Amino acid sequence: MAEGGLEGFICPRCMKDFRSPQNLITHFERSHSEEQDLLKSIKSIYGKAKKIFKLDEQDLEQFRKELNLERNLVEEPQDPGPTKSYTDYFKEVRRDRLEHRTTETNKLIIRLDRLLQLDGSDRKLHEQELVAWIDGTSVTRCPSCASSFNLVVRQHHCRLCGSIMCNSCSYFLSYETAEEIVTPVKTFNGREHRSSKESDSIRICQHCLDMLESRRKAQVEQMMQPIICQLYSHLQKSKQQIQHSVDMYSKMHNSISLGEATYALQDLHSLRTTIADKAQMIDTLSKKIASLPVDPNTPKAVTLQNSIRKATSVYIKDYLLSQPPPPTLEQLEQIKQGRSLKNADDDDLIPRERLRITKVTVTTGWSPANVNNERTAPEDADPLLEQMNNVRSYIDQARKAHRYEEVASLEENLKMLKEIYRKQQREKTGRKSD
Ligand SMILES: [Zn+2]
Ligand SMILES: [Zn+2]
Ligand SMILES: [Zn+2]
Repeated sequence: MAEGGLEGFICPRCMKDFRSPQNLITHFERSHSEEQDLLKSIKSIYGKAKKIFKLDEQDLEQFRKELNLERNLVEEPQDPGPTKSYTDYFKEVRRDRLEHRTTETNKLIIRLDRLLQLDGSDRKLHEQELVAWIDGTSVTRCPSCASSFNLVVRQHHCRLCGSIMCNSCSYFLSYETAEEIVTPVKTFNGREHRSSKESDSIRICQHCLDMLESRRKAQVEQMMQPIICQLYSHLQKSKQQIQHSVDMYSKMHNSISLGEATYALQDLHSLRTTIADKAQMIDTLSKKIASLPVDPNTPKAVTLQNSIRKATSVYIKDYLLSQPPPPTLEQLEQIKQGRSLKNADDDDLIPRERLRITKVTVTTGWSPANVNNERTAPEDADPLLEQMNNVRSYIDQARKAHRYEEVASLEENLKMLKEIYRKQQREKTGRKSD
């Protein structure tokens, strides 16, 4: 054995390891009692070692004390400080690796396909043209299991990557399986199975087998998306819709609570009902996810399913159901009174508002046809009344479509038209009384 390669409690005479200083000294006293000098020096080394160990222990104790002190100092809650998301970085690294793996796997598939084109004895002749076999002259052991190569344990090559292994580390891919692997899953219907040559197979290494198997698995998974994924994407879509409603709800709620007449209280109520219905729906969805049967091959799925359920309940309870309820009619009355007191002397209010309202703002998608945005009052009063009726019907349509933003704009439009109409009527009666 190499010099200086021994470590442990070794007797300098018989070079055996006695595993503890006490054992070594006992052995030395018993078997080599004539060598008192050596015994002394062993004992003194042991003594020194003991002191070092003790010092270490003292240091450790001191360190523990300091650590405790530090821990006591920072009892108060701490700000987590700035955080940074590494998701993008993770995705980038992951993408690169996946790409690399896909390229490597595709190479194997191409080679496998070509191997299958070759027949029997022909295959033996040409298989090395498909992939260079590693030169085995300097390889003395199997890289997988470390068995020494000799006349009995012989070198073999993986037909897909050319690497070296022993016979027991080899896997044999039957022609039939190989055919299935190179045939796309969906269109697999017809290359004849070479069942007559079932004994014939392709020798491959574990690494290549893993690559082929995981590719196959991914293909099958792609074809049959697990039910949990379907339910979860449904859940996520519903949550997005709910978010839209909640945003609208809090906007309307704020506006109404400020005493503004932009939105109607009845609409706030019906939006609240809509949100509650959707909350019920995602609750059911998450329960369904949590109660899905678990494949024993993926025991961690239970944790995932329960986490989805838990997160959804928290979302419903702490977010959806904690939205403030609509103000009562009495509260609304109080708000309006407070507001009219505040604005009692403000003569400019109406003209300013009228300037602000210039047209019906239609946000996304939904739109009633032919809204007349002209600000000038027509000479004849009848078209104005007709226009007001049109706007009323648009409001009904918008409300039915849950387009509260448009309802609000149209209501303002109607208010403006009413204002103009009233002014006209006043002018007419004024002219008459002149
Ligand atoms: Zn000895
Ligand atoms: Zn291989
Ligand atoms: Zn081996």
